[in-house]
Amino acid sequence: MPQASSSKTASSRDIGIDLGTANTLVYARGHGIVLNEPSVVAVKAGTTTALAVGAEAKETIGRTPGSITAIRPLKDGVICDYEAAEEMIRHFVRKAVPGRRTRTRTRMVICVPSGVTQVERRAIVHASTRAGARTVHLIEEPMAAAIGAGLPVAEPRGSMVVDIGGGTSEVAVISLGGIVTSQSLRVGGDRLDAAIIDYVRKEHALLIGERTAEDVKVGIGSAWPVPDRPELETRTFTVRGREKVGGMPKTLELTAPDVRTALDEPVEAIIAAVRTTLEECPPELSGDVMEHGIVLTGGGALLPGLDLRMASATGIPVYVADNPLDCVALGSGRCVEDLDTLSSLLAPAKG
Ligand code: ADP
Ligand code: MG
Repeated sequence: MPQASSSKTASSRDIGIDLGTANTLVYARGHGIVLNEPSVVAVKAGTTTALAVGAEAKETIGRTPGSITAIRPLKDGVICDYEAAEEMIRHFVRKAVPGRRTRTRTRMVICVPSGVTQVERRAIVHASTRAGARTVHLIEEPMAAAIGAGLPVAEPRGSMVVDIGGGTSEVAVISLGGIVTSQSLRVGGDRLDAAIIDYVRKEHALLIGERTAEDVKVGIGSAWPVPDRPELETRTFTVRGREKVGGMPKTLELTAPDVRTALDEPVEAIIAAVRTTLEECPPELSGDVMEHGIVLTGGGALLPGLDLRMASATGIPVYVADNPLDCVALGSGRCVEDLDTLSSLLAPAKG
């Protein structure tokens, strides 16, 4: 990597970006996580003019007048709206790296889901280069998640990480600095929200929005009863929606067991992917995973009881990483701090 040696000038500011479907985090070399905002862009309908990006734009979801559209440029873990993605990356980079001249020297490490195609990779590199990057390296998300969760990725020992984001979940077994086997499934937090919307529509003939469904999930959702926290079982959440028939506004009280029923199917899909990955894993490495356990990262790791349910289904201990929402950004940050020495973990990306 010839570009690595000369660029460490006083004003260079190398960054790692966790370009998530739900949240984008930016890690700046020597500073830590400097930005954490929803991956949302509000644009004027029918144009590409961004009116707001990030937290400000998320406020508008489901509440926009006809003239404004709130776009999530990375719907299923990949860029689905190229222009909005580029606008978003540019906005966040500008916020995280002040000074135009500094930005032109910025080296970026960007996390991508392990399942992305070559075309999708190229789209991300292109968008980042247009946003001002001098060089762009891509790192696979499960690798970044594992590094950020403190797993010994470089050792000859199998480590399993399950990163549950908004659009996708990534399951991977890592050993000797590489991903040995992995699965990327398009089931994540968004699918859990959709399952709550479906449940409320089918069982109670009430229509609720995505924001409300996410609030329900974060408020009282669970994947399995948690014996140490019996208070979770008695929680309720009052939702406002619109009656399917008649269209009148109505409120409804949901209970924690209701929501667990609603979440059953997507939760099972994530657990099934863990099983498949274990089956595909070379026996020595799955033995390591049996011994050392599975580590959960990403926002979905915060769903109470998911660890217990996965442990019961697989017979393997499951741990939730510290600060699961930050793991991927911290892992990319580790690469940024050691951009010169960790190059073997990173494939230099071509635009
Ligand atoms: P991405 O990497 O795709 O941006 P994140 O790792 O940031 O995703 O996780 C975002 C997802 O985590 C969202 O779907 C959000 O609803 C979900 N989430 C956040 N907090 C919780 C929680 N306490 N319980 C369940 N899900 C949560
Ligand atoms: Mg993520």
